[in-house]
Amino acid sequence: MADRTGQCLCGNVHYTVSGEPVTARICWCQTCQKISGNGTANAIFPSGNIKVDGPLGCYTSQADSGNTISRHFCPRCGCHLFASSSASPQFRVVRLGTLDEPSSVKPQINIWASSAPAWACLDSGLKSEAKQPGPIQPKPSSPQ
Ligand SMILES: [Zn+2]
Ligand SMILES: [Zn+2]
Repeated sequence: MADRTGQCLCGNVHYTVSGEPVTARICWCQTCQKISGNGTANAIFPSGNIKVDGPLGCYTSQADSGNTISRHFCPRCGCHLFASSSASPQFRVVRLGTLDEPSSVKPQINIWASSAPAWACLDSGLKSEAKQPGPIQPKPSSPQ
């Protein structure tokens, strides 16, 4: 599909992302719940596919997985747009809700489902991992 575009809540930060995501997941780790009030829906793209126009703040902390995660947000409205992990710096996480067309990416899996709140609505049609799945792998180019 054509490049996807997105922006933060106040419009101070715009971005364009090309190509298709390597994967898309809904994350219920406790840090995601802190930044969003809920699980976060994310697509993972090669870092080089994302072009950002606007200033980004950054908050770095250790995730439940033990990896160092850098979370990038608009310094004006606080909207979280991106994240990256020390485990896989070649990829960047895009928060799906910041896309202009969030429905253009379909999450494939719930991760950290073991720390989801009791009231969370997890799509039973999706795969589910209790914690962090293995390292992100590029999509195989042919069916396995
Ligand atoms: Zn903003
Ligand atoms: Zn998370």
